[in-house]
Parts: sequence; C-alpha cells; structure tokens
Amino acid sequence: MFAVAIDGPAGAGKSSVAKAAAKELGFVYVDTGAIYRTIALYVLRQGVDPHDAAGVEALLPQIQVGMEYTEQGQKMLLNGEDVTGLIRTPEVSMATSACSAIPAVRAYLLQLQRDLAEKNNVLMDGRDIGTVVLPHAQLKIFLTASPEERARRRVGQLEEAGQKADYQSILRDIVQRDYQDSHRETAPLRPAEDSVLLDTTGNVFEQSVAQLVALVREKL
Ligand code: C5P
Repeated sequence: MFAVAIDGPAGAGKSSVAKAAAKELGFVYVDTGAIYRTIALYVLRQGVDPHDAAGVEALLPQIQVGMEYTEQGQKMLLNGEDVTGLIRTPEVSMATSACSAIPAVRAYLLQLQRDLAEKNNVLMDGRDIGTVVLPHAQLKIFLTASPEERARRRVGQLEEAGQKADYQSILRDIVQRDYQDSHRETAPLRPAEDSVLLDTTGNVFEQSVAQLVALVREKL
C-alpha cells in the first residue's frame, strides 16, 4: 500500500486539494478531521463540555464512528446515523479543536486511522498524520497558506453556498484554531521532519492539485 500523509492548518484547502488529487490518482481520500468532528458532535449533543477531558473520555465507549466511501466522498456515521451534513458548523469546529486535544480521544482514533491505510492506498489529511498516525508514509506533505488567504477562501465558499460570511470573525477563528492546534501537548500541529512543504498562497485550486499529484507521482 502507498500512503500519503497530508498535514497542515485549518482552511489551507487540504481536504479539497487532497480529494481531487486522490480522484486523479485512484487513491482513497481519508478526511481525519471529519472523524474528530463526529466525536465532537456527540459530545455537544450529550451536553458535555468539550474541554472536560474526563467527561469526554467517559463518552468514548458509547461512540461508534463509521465511514463510507461513496461517489460524493467520505460519509460519516455516528452510531449509524449519517451526520456528514452536521459536522461543519463553527460550533462543531471549535468543539472539535477542544476534544482533539484530549489524549484519550487521539488514542481512541489512532487504530481506526491506521487500519484505513493498511487496507487502501490513501491520501490521508489531518494534523498529525505524518508525525504520529503514519510515521512511515511514503510521502509526507505539509500543506499550508497564509491565514488571510485561508480566511478569504472560506468567505468565498460560504458566499457561494448562499451563507453570510464575516471575514474578521472567520480570520479570528482561524488564528485561534491554529494556535490551539499547534500549542496543545498531545500531537501538536507541526511539519514532520521529512515532509515536503506545499504553500498554496496565491495558487488557484487546480495548481495546488497538480503540484500534489506531481509530488505523489514522483514517488510512485
Ligand atoms: O481538518 P478539520 O478542520 O476538519 O479538523 C477539525 C479539527 O480537528 C482541527 O482544528 C483539529 O483540532 C482537529 N484534528 C486533529 N487531528 C487530525 C484532524 C483534525 O486534531 N488528524
């Protein structure tokens, strides 16, 4: 099996770029953020504070996370319920950042992620894929873009979806999530030593996809 680990901050375009590249390469695209988001949704639904490590840990045995790979991409199942459309709200994003800092949550999801890479050629995107989950991945990419560029892209996506978007608050959320993700004790966001930096600031989408596909093909 061939594994590509893609790490980088929130909103850098990892998931859309990796998804398109996976399609071109015939690989399975694994969005690990969606797995953490599914856990956070359950925590919110139970009324538990996502910062309460013991409270969140106690919920883990009740959670069955399932994934299905369809033409539309990765579907997330929470105890059998399709929650794909419910895990992208700002509330779930912030709760996810808190839950994912809890060591027990990361340990709980480690094997699930490794199993996926054992059975498929994967492009797996997350925060600690190259450093912790798949340290032996054949290729490691750190995909990033400036916070301002990431906020602009997010505003564009929301407006395209007909939703209201406030650039300043989106930028503030991105900066805050970057800080939380890179300063936590367990599996902080940082480039693996042997990763290739892919900075997509100023790129159009197709350029980033082509650069990623080229990097993978060099190694295949
Ligand atoms: O990638 P996405 O923005 O959907 O991830 C949501 C949150 O999940 C991130 O801000 C991060 O806190 C967490 N995450 C993580 N490790 C991963 C993937 C996501 O900690 N491998």
